[in-house]
Amino acid sequence: MGESNGLLTIERSEGRRRCPSCGEENKNMIHESTDKTNIISDYPRVYGKKNRCGRCGQEWREK
Ligand SMILES: [Zn+2]
Repeated sequence: MGESNGLLTIERSEGRRRCPSCGEENKNMIHESTDKTNIISDYPRVYGKKNRCGRCGQEWREK
């Protein structure tokens, strides 16, 4: 197992979501998806979310 290359985990922040790499704040540029490597609950099955920046390609998730 292991995380995909370059996936950052950051502290959940208040307010706007922001790319930790380039600082992009435009939500149209930040794509949220299900992170199937991050299981929050087995039953019912709940996965975490990850974000991907459309500008620089950085992926991250929040704690
Ligand atoms: Zn970025």
